[in-house]
Amino acid sequence: MCLICDRIEMIKNGTNPYFVRELETGYVVIGDHQHFRGYTLFLYKNHDKTELFQMELKERAKFMEEMSIVAEATAKAFGPVKMNYELLGMGDAHLHWHLFPRRQGDIGEYGNKGVGPVWSYPMEKMYDDRNRPTEEELEDLKAKLKVELDKLL
Ligand SMILES: [Zn+2]
Repeated sequence: MCLICDRIEMIKNGTNPYFVRELETGYVVIGDHQHFRGYTLFLYKNHDKTELFQMELKERAKFMEEMSIVAEATAKAFGPVKMNYELLGMGDAHLHWHLFPRRQGDIGEYGNKGVGPVWSYPMEKMYDDRNRPTEEELEDLKAKLKVELDKLL
């Protein structure tokens, strides 16, 4: 089983503390690490496709539309300067969007003097345990995002 499928299974069992809301094509979750405050993911419901171009046109359009709504809600909830969108998958091929709220100075001087992609920032810093939200912070992040999602859906 893949990591994303594991997390989705936890959502279905009611044991995923990061879960925010279910949409038609995927699940909205708060990221495990919050160096980029408000970092959110949108997990596609199915493991059977690993590329956008493999999806039926209608399903693809819905998935993209819902991802945009999640990004908008994330922006409204956490007030970044700019949203960054990423669909990667060399580690976990299961389709999942990384939605990063970006702010001035959030990667220091790394990555083209701080304006490059989030991955310019050293992984050991990004994934430092100190960037894990406390239970209270996590509840706050989820509540803020949920309010904005509810307005858009
Ligand atoms: Zn999977």
